[in-house]
Amino acid sequence: MAGVTNGTFPVAPFQRYIISMSTGTGSAKYRCAQCEMSEAQCECDKYCCLCQTVLEVRLCEDGLLYCEPCRTACDYKTSG
Ligand SMILES: [Zn+2]
Ligand SMILES: [Zn+2]
Repeated sequence: MAGVTNGTFPVAPFQRYIISMSTGTGSAKYRCAQCEMSEAQCECDKYCCLCQTVLEVRLCEDGLLYCEPCRTACDYKTSG
């Protein structure tokens, strides 16, 4: 009396609802405070709003440009 394997559903892992953090898409999160364009599209003169250097300036979360030392000092994060 071989029993039929009834009710043995393959335990498929449910597809988890993964919230896309939309990172790594290349689109900048922050926008320039002057022209409201993304960093890639901003054509404003790029210089640090603190020390006026033009080296390594990036758009930060407040829409202003900061150089690398100032970002580090103020703990600002770039748009990626
Ligand atoms: Zn701009
Ligand atoms: Zn600076």
